[in-house]
Amino acid sequence: MSDHSEYSRGDLRNTGLRLKHDREWDYELDRIAEAIDERDADTVGLQFPEGLKRRAPSVADDIRELVDDVTVLISGQPCYGACDLDTYLMKRTDVFVHFGHSPMKESEKIIYVPLFSNVEVTPIMAEALDTLDDPGVAPEIGLVTTAQHMNRFDEMREFLEDRGYTVRTRRGDDRLTHEGQVLGCNYASADVNADQVLYVGGGKFHPLGLAMEHPEKRVVIADPVNNVVTVADTEQFMKQRFGAVHRAMDAESWGVIFCTKIGQGRWEEAQRILDDNDDAYLLTMDEVTPDRLRNFDVDAFVNTGCPRITTDDGPRFHKPMLTPGEYDAAVGNKPLSEIGFDTFHGTW
Ligand code: SF4
Repeated sequence: MSDHSEYSRGDLRNTGLRLKHDREWDYELDRIAEAIDERDADTVGLQFPEGLKRRAPSVADDIRELVDDVTVLISGQPCYGACDLDTYLMKRTDVFVHFGHSPMKESEKIIYVPLFSNVEVTPIMAEALDTLDDPGVAPEIGLVTTAQHMNRFDEMREFLEDRGYTVRTRRGDDRLTHEGQVLGCNYASADVNADQVLYVGGGKFHPLGLAMEHPEKRVVIADPVNNVVTVADTEQFMKQRFGAVHRAMDAESWGVIFCTKIGQGRWEEAQRILDDNDDAYLLTMDEVTPDRLRNFDVDAFVNTGCPRITTDDGPRFHKPMLTPGEYDAAVGNKPLSEIGFDTFHGTW
């Protein structure tokens, strides 16, 4: 993957982990070294998200300095979430470390190193007060963030409470580790009784998904990484989605993608579409890219894997790519007005 400017503004790569400058992260090397010793490990596997892969060799060096006689294997597979564990490497190493995401499902085999951001959050929250509805008018406010800023969640809550807001938060479902945490595919933590939600975190990827999932709420973005306050605007996104559904309405053949990544498989959804349509063919793959689909001669695709590939990267595919809900609208199973954001619940 080259320069990220070719991707849409909500793209995965524009999160807090896409760094403009080097930042010091705590890789929890002592915890890793301890596990290597305890398990008398010969091999250790390391998996980094895209934005931190360039730091992998120096982390490997640090581990080799701390422990003798261990072979370090670095995953070269793409990685965009805890849904995306390198299971091949996991099975073949004595210790497996996944950096940069909070656990989607705990396992003794995996050491999750969350890599909390050390960026201050209250200065940008203070700026966001001008954009938020006044607590005198709208005291209820939802508060959400990403795993990288979870270490400051209490601080965020206190900041708002001190200014008169009643802060509404919830844990969400199994796919989420923390109260107030959102993922690009899951905003259950924002199902709270408040008309406005403050998202504190880097990039627009998460708040745009949040605003699509909760069109009834006003989503204010306080971005401490890029130091900007904005309001999430989904108009461009929604136009693009309606366009894709319209283009797929004439489709006579469909490729239904079943993603083989451990946390991205929705078998029942894929099976439902196959049962519904004699002209649908099940395609299995891990990474879903335009290149991999180009040789399939079908009229449209339905992606049951990561919903953000569909909504954010959709225009890069040679044929319309729809979410399962959008498929239903395209074939007339439900009205177009009922299409919503494709959320992903549960784990594996
Ligand atoms: S499936 Fe969810 S957690 Fe995984 S990469 Fe997509 S948005 Fe992120």
